[in-house]
Amino acid sequence: MSKRVYNFNPGPSALPLEVLNIVREELLDYKGTGMSILESSHRGKEYEEINNSAMSLVKEILGLGDNYKVLFLTGGASMQFAMVPMNFVPEGKVGAYVDTGSWANKAIKECNAVAKAQVLFSAKADGYKRIPKLSELSYPENAAYVHITSNNTIEGCQWQEFPNTGKIPLICDMSSDIASRPADYNRFALIYAGAQKNLGPAGVTLVIIREDFLATCKSTLPVILNYQTYANESSLYNTPPAFAVYVTKLVLEWIKRQGGLTAIEKVNKAKKDYVYGMVDKYPDFFRGPVEQASRSWMNLTFRLPDEELEKKFIAEAKAAGFVGLKGHRSVGGIRASLYNAVPLEGAQKLAEFMENFRSANKK
Ligand code: PMP
Repeated sequence: MSKRVYNFNPGPSALPLEVLNIVREELLDYKGTGMSILESSHRGKEYEEINNSAMSLVKEILGLGDNYKVLFLTGGASMQFAMVPMNFVPEGKVGAYVDTGSWANKAIKECNAVAKAQVLFSAKADGYKRIPKLSELSYPENAAYVHITSNNTIEGCQWQEFPNTGKIPLICDMSSDIASRPADYNRFALIYAGAQKNLGPAGVTLVIIREDFLATCKSTLPVILNYQTYANESSLYNTPPAFAVYVTKLVLEWIKRQGGLTAIEKVNKAKKDYVYGMVDKYPDFFRGPVEQASRSWMNLTFRLPDEELEKKFIAEAKAAGFVGLKGHRSVGGIRASLYNAVPLEGAQKLAEFMENFRSANKK
């Protein structure tokens, strides 16, 4: 087999090797059809089976009630930034947003392009180093919903508990931490996530929507932008991203085989402990910009004493088989994305590399 690297890419990112092997095995002849699923009709029985089991696996793994619809859309999480306010902010109301990172900020901008956003809290001026305490938030009466970003992929901060917004529907962009841990997923009116981090390949966006909330969406939109369209037609209104949904189904089955979210969380905790453990062990060399209580388990950001050393770290890591560690271009530094499919061994080896790099380069 060809050599595989330790992949810390922020998205698209590592997929479980087991899943890639199944894809390879099934690629040329999907279940005796004599063709690839890439070449099959989305109206055929093979895709119908994939679509249905992917929908029910999402519900099963996240523990969602029967009052939720699972949709597979295109356009990325970025499309959801616009679709959410288009569908759910009526005249006279606002979309209420918590601004905890660059992606949250983009969601706010898109809301303002089609409706009106109100920002309940912003950590922007402080460089998005923390998630607000729940006691810092209050919710305006004219809020159509409250929107949060559970994990801030670029800055590396993550909500550890979710706000209780009472009667106001809570919406969450979970692109970079969905299915990484057990949570009360039923407290959300709508969750969306691009698949390309924890769930599968790029090209499909998962949307989970509670039926009573779905019923309030605007009916005057173009059909392609209306959530009801997808809900009514099991996400088959038009040609879906069939191959991406197929791989997502395989990843969901893999999550189930690991023991579901409780088992996944245990491994994710051990992974982040390796890497943050090293950051905290050597404060003379590593510095985590995010406040401890807000640290992300998925995107671990840290700095070295200077930018030259950061460049050297990234280059030497790459030569040693660790890829994707360069921080987002807007913030710099190092970012290790430890999504579900990154093996424990990857985090352990990265921690060793960090320790050795420090020994060789400390002043
Ligand atoms: N939200 C978050 C939290 C993200 O991390 C990303 C992508 N990295 C997006 C939204 C945008 O996703 P997409 O590229 O699928 O539009």
